[in-house]
Amino acid sequence: MIDQGTWTAALGRLQLELSNGNFAAWLQHSTFVEGGLSSLVVGLPNAFARETVDRNFRPIVKEVVDDIAACDVAVTFVIHGDDASTVTSKRAVSAPARSPGHNAAAPIVRPSAPLQPRYTFDNFVAGEGSSLAYAAAKRACESPGGSYNPLFVYGSVGLGKTHLLKAVGHDISRRMPSCTVRYVTSEDFTHELVTAIRAGSTSAFRSRYRSIDVLLMDDVQFIAGRESTQQEVFHTFDTLYSAGKQIVLTSDRAPQTIRPLSDRLTTRFACGLVTDIQPPDFETRLAILRCKALAVDADVPLPVIELLASSVMDNVRNLEGALTRVVFFAQCNKLELSVDVAQQALHRTGYRTGPRLVTLGDITNAVCEHFGLTAKEITGTSRVSRLTRPRHIAMYIMREDTNQSLPAIGANLGGRDHTTVLYGVRKISNELADDPALQLAVESIRALISPTTSYPG
Ligand code: ADP
Ligand code: MG
Repeated sequence: MIDQGTWTAALGRLQLELSNGNFAAWLQHSTFVEGGLSSLVVGLPNAFARETVDRNFRPIVKEVVDDIAACDVAVTFVIHGDDASTVTSKRAVSAPARSPGHNAAAPIVRPSAPLQPRYTFDNFVAGEGSSLAYAAAKRACESPGGSYNPLFVYGSVGLGKTHLLKAVGHDISRRMPSCTVRYVTSEDFTHELVTAIRAGSTSAFRSRYRSIDVLLMDDVQFIAGRESTQQEVFHTFDTLYSAGKQIVLTSDRAPQTIRPLSDRLTTRFACGLVTDIQPPDFETRLAILRCKALAVDADVPLPVIELLASSVMDNVRNLEGALTRVVFFAQCNKLELSVDVAQQALHRTGYRTGPRLVTLGDITNAVCEHFGLTAKEITGTSRVSRLTRPRHIAMYIMREDTNQSLPAIGANLGGRDHTTVLYGVRKISNELADDPALQLAVESIRALISPTTSYPG
């Protein structure tokens, strides 16, 4: 029987499958409407959401639900908002289940089965700097709520914390399909809490978080200095912990150095296993590059892999970026990928290889350069689209590529509110998946950031 629990479990997995932006935009506010032996009706807040989910996410939703229910489920999406009673009856028509490839024009976002999630243990390359975190995460999956509870993983940006956290979610969902797994960033948690307080629905918020089996909280450093969030995290933590539920936390720094943070939370965060992730060494960088090249089905000769591994040292995200760049460059120019071509590609795009951290100012400069704007324009108050678009892109890159908080990013962009920044970040991350032109713009801007390079050879 398909019930509320099935849909809650499915949402947990979908959250791990989709990008954060897509999940938040399209599925987070969906509701369980009705279930049968092999049927499920899912409510979405409006016609636009219904169309989008039906068109783009039907295959993956169905796949996840089928898997949890262990049968072939007929999934129907209906409008189920405030005016649901009138709209649902008119609109509750099941779209015929489309088989992938049936209509070539229909944009199907993901390939058909089998599902190949991006963030799993299988495609995490554990090197010396990350083997402890990796082993601990795996152990937490084997016996959730056991001795590695809570598990606290910290390390600087782009070293695989989110990857590991989501891998835990996947693995536990796979082993125990009835488990409710919830992945949340501490900022989204804060945002949800604030919204719940405003809407007078804090008890629903609390029961949502305190009834789950696994809590995966990403980037907890952002709760520093937030009194009410800390209180809520504390009570959620205690409820789950005393019920023997698994908690995994990530942060860019160790619990003791998150400040200001209440003592009781510091103690809680550190009471299980605390482990860090260090940047990968050369051998590990080679292994990661081989793994990534395989994943994108690109034939990258070993000398090119070695060049990349010795040029890019700071973090794995940049390593991936450099690989994508050289593969893309060779394809675009119809060249066979060689060390020479790779060097050209890196040089042309001014790829940054040093360990220097990107500052918010660097990103503002690069965005301005790309769009031909002045810093005054981008930080100013005008909201013409010529300026809002670049501003949103800047917010997105700042959030992705630095460890700065939303308020800090807002402050840097002319004193904007953190919710404005969150809106911009989500907007761009939602659109990125389906917009190659935007992807290219973001990549070109990244390439403009800090053009100082030195290559071996
Ligand atoms: P963080 O959360 O620490 O900032 P992410 O988990 O987002 O970093 O990782 C950045 C990118 O690098 C992701 O695409 C991730 O898949 C990849 N990555 C990081 N570490 C590894 C690793 N050890 N093996 C394979 N991919 C990795
Ligand atoms: Mg992360």
